[in-house]
Amino acid sequence: MEIVPIISKGYDSNVYVIKDEKVAVIDTGLSESWLERKLSEVVAPERVDYVINTHAHVDHCGGNALFKNAKTLIHELDAQALSDGRFYGTASLFAQGKSLRYDRVLREGDVIDLGEAKLEVLHTPGHTPGSACFYISSIKALFSGDTLFAGGSFGRVDLGGNMEQLKASLRRLAKLDIDVLYPGHMEVVEGEEARESARLAWEIAEEYY
Ligand SMILES: [Zn+2]
Repeated sequence: MEIVPIISKGYDSNVYVIKDEKVAVIDTGLSESWLERKLSEVVAPERVDYVINTHAHVDHCGGNALFKNAKTLIHELDAQALSDGRFYGTASLFAQGKSLRYDRVLREGDVIDLGEAKLEVLHTPGHTPGSACFYISSIKALFSGDTLFAGGSFGRVDLGGNMEQLKASLRRLAKLDIDVLYPGHMEVVEGEEARESARLAWEIAEEYY
């Protein structure tokens, strides 16, 4: 398994390409044109088997249609927001409205099997109702979308979210053994910094919200 992070410097989400027996892309940024440029030296879009969205905000799904041969996977509670083209209000926020298809809905405990990499689906609502994190236990890697960022920050709850749910989700992540944190925006962190991010986020959420 090889994980190639594409770290965004703008409004696009980070994009993570996992190359294994199957090839998966976790989140796709705001637009196809941005992602196509970024992917050029990583993988050919037609080789991608799965597009996996952490949630249905358009800055994470806007490039989905670039992958013509891929199956699109999203948690069942965010599937509707993907296909209705409004993305919990982020379509108007980013002027990027479009209806996107999905092929399979995910639920808590599902495993997406890419070969060596087995992505466990953790339903972590709060940022949106169907926000999900993906955990590869063999390398203790967590793809956290906008639920958790490096350094103990976390996503906003005013675009379809709920703070009480987010607190519970952060509490859950704080107890998880994380060696590498791949968040939806900003930098990737490893080791103690990754574990501290989750603990700190939970503490901050409990104390200030
Ligand atoms: Zn988001």
